[in-house]
Amino acid sequence: MRPLIVIGNWKMNGSLANNEDWIKVVCKGMEQGMPAGRKFAVCAPAPYLAQCNALIQKCSLAFMSLGAQDVSAHASGAFTGEASASMLRELGCNYVIVGHSERRHMHHETDGLIAEKALQVLDQGMTPVICIGESADERNSGRAVEVVRGQIAKQVAVLQDRLADCLIAYEPVWAIGTGKVASAQLAQDMHRAIRLQLAEFDEDVASHVGILYGGSVKPDNAVELFAMPDIDGGLIGGASLNPQDFLAICQS
Ligand code: PEP
Repeated sequence: MRPLIVIGNWKMNGSLANNEDWIKVVCKGMEQGMPAGRKFAVCAPAPYLAQCNALIQKCSLAFMSLGAQDVSAHASGAFTGEASASMLRELGCNYVIVGHSERRHMHHETDGLIAEKALQVLDQGMTPVICIGESADERNSGRAVEVVRGQIAKQVAVLQDRLADCLIAYEPVWAIGTGKVASAQLAQDMHRAIRLQLAEFDEDVASHVGILYGGSVKPDNAVELFAMPDIDGGLIGGASLNPQDFLAICQS
């Protein structure tokens, strides 16, 4: 049985004061009760990871953890501005987002580079959250499944059965930050297609891997999305900035 996992992605938002308030509100809310067997994480900007780790440690909820939004594809060396997976591990991260569409588009990240980043994360004992998803043009031209299959094929080629220890986040680009959420059925159909493709490689990997949905998830649409059999949780951007909305989504 795969656990439901909800991960917040603050993107480049936050401040020392806001982060402290957010973690206090969310921890207090979670202490009052969360459905059993679920996992939660928040992916903070890199400069705030140490602060957020200390605050999350204080609330000591086994099911709440910390994540980062990106990682270097290299272990160490002359890569000015980058942070390695071992550094993120030392700062208390359990999850690392790789290949978010904003990085694919603004920083020209390729599927190959994203798989290399995922390997670094796995080698440090953390869980990569590998983002995939088609653009509006790709969907409108009937190529959504083909595009997503291509992205998955590249991850399978590099990661092989280590994919069982990853999370996949299906995030249609047209739904990210736009308020245009995919219908629960559309998301379920794509998640199913992804799982079937993974089963072509290895049934065990397909049944273990968590596939999260991301793209304008809000408290009022999370219940329907999370009820779908192949949707194992969500990657939440904008709505994760509000601690009450994040809590409501975690309870969905
Ligand atoms: C994201 O950034 O991963 C995301 C899903 O954003 P939003 O929820 O704002 O669409």
